[in-house]
Amino acid sequence: MKYSLDSASAIIANTSDKSIHIGATMKVTVLGAGVIGVTSAYYLAKAGHEVTVIDRQTGPALETSFANAGEVSFGYCSPWAAPGIPRKALKWLFMEHAPLILRPKVDYAMLAWMVRMLANCTSERYAINKSRMLRLADYSRLSLAELRTETSIAYDERMQGTLQLFRSESQLDASAKDVKALAADGIPYEVLDREGCIRVEPALRHVSDKIVGGLLTPKDETGDCFKFTNALAVACVAMGVTFDYGRTIKGVEVEAGQAKAVATDRGTMFSDAIVVALGSYSPLLLKPLGIRLPVYPVKGYSLTIPIVDAARAPESTVMDETYKIAITRLGDRIRVGGMAEISGYTNDLGPARRRTLEHSVTDLFPGGDVKAANYWSGLRPMTPDGTPVIGATNIRNLFLNTGHGTLGWTMSTGSARVLTDIVGGRKGDIDAADLSIARYGR
Ligand SMILES: Cc1cc2nc3c(=O)[nH]c(=O)nc-3n(C[C@H](O)[C@H](O)[C@H](O)COP(=O)(O)OP(=O)(O)OC[C@H]3O[C@@H](n4cnc5c(N)ncnc54)[C@H](O)[C@@H]3O)c2cc1C
Repeated sequence: MKYSLDSASAIIANTSDKSIHIGATMKVTVLGAGVIGVTSAYYLAKAGHEVTVIDRQTGPALETSFANAGEVSFGYCSPWAAPGIPRKALKWLFMEHAPLILRPKVDYAMLAWMVRMLANCTSERYAINKSRMLRLADYSRLSLAELRTETSIAYDERMQGTLQLFRSESQLDASAKDVKALAADGIPYEVLDREGCIRVEPALRHVSDKIVGGLLTPKDETGDCFKFTNALAVACVAMGVTFDYGRTIKGVEVEAGQAKAVATDRGTMFSDAIVVALGSYSPLLLKPLGIRLPVYPVKGYSLTIPIVDAARAPESTVMDETYKIAITRLGDRIRVGGMAEISGYTNDLGPARRRTLEHSVTDLFPGGDVKAANYWSGLRPMTPDGTPVIGATNIRNLFLNTGHGTLGWTMSTGSARVLTDIVGGRKGDIDAADLSIARYGR
């Protein structure tokens, strides 16, 4: 498959708004300077638009895109809502180093999101949702390679794959359904025995008695999302994008069904089109506009650990299936990240989660100084079906690129290109009709 960004021809874009022309330069305001906002800005600027990015932080990628697990995992892209998850979730809740933490509270958004997520745990819904995510991930894989060539940005990137590591025969057996899905989607993979795992990740030789095998997706990549987003923001500035930091967005002003301006704590900003890329905070902005976006924050944690013994550090990403924790090599650091905590909008850092991360990494790769690690949490903007929400809304000139959940960086470049084509009214390279908010009905 080859995708390329042709220059847009001058045809009318939004048929209900004759003021916007494809090919004409539009003033586009992107809300949010996370990895999704910055990749959106890049492709919008590349398509010739005049782009401004607004964020309340002092720079790019200072919220969820700051210290994620570092996987650019095209082959591992799957919705969390899967058959068997409700039963597994019950078991996880009672594990010592639990991958899932649930703190129920009286919160309609949380309950509504959980009900919708459970409704997506059927084989039929899983297949639909996974194929949507894989379509975006595959487009992102090609787009990211192109972007790297275009910009020459560096972000501790490596192209050595993801190794899903099994500690028991039952985990190995259960991976048969993933293998089937990978084969069906034409994604390269290798099923490895213990020796095979050690060949891919030599440091595992020190703990060989703890592993039984693994599943390698060799086309997956790794890197530092914060460095990526910052380097891309620099490239954006060179393309004429304006970044307006330290500005809190209060709302979107709508007149006669059309988005006109963004209200902020430092004044109102007018533009032809507005793109919402506020991660977990997107639904809060959209609610007063009557748009109910089913995105809920699912908190995760990470540790970034300086390497002191490289022979006992990973080479790429190792996904420990037992704890659902990803352990990634980022230059001279190890990033270990994971866990899903459903507890609302809170970034607090409890000692128990840190113990889980420390346990998981030192059990396999004791090559880092965990006491000197940086501990972090972030809120994954999760949709109940795992797929992001990209496209137009029922308010003219208001667009969404949000809800990227577990693998937002992985899907970012493809999502941004899809968004750019929709904003410009162009037919895109991939089918995107089922990615819009319309899929949730009214
Ligand atoms: C522990 C963990 C591990 C992960 N691992 C991976 C991984 O290995 N690979 C992968 O691909 N993905 C991973 N993810 C997911 C990925 O990090 C997210 O999907 C992605 O960062 C979301 O990007 P975003 O731009 O949508 O959100 P954000 O990065 O949160 O950006 C949203 C921006 O909006 C701004 N904002 C919000 N509200 C306002 C307001 N009112 N006014 C002004 N600005 C505002 C914020 O400041 C922020 O900068 C992980 C996530 C977590 C938590």
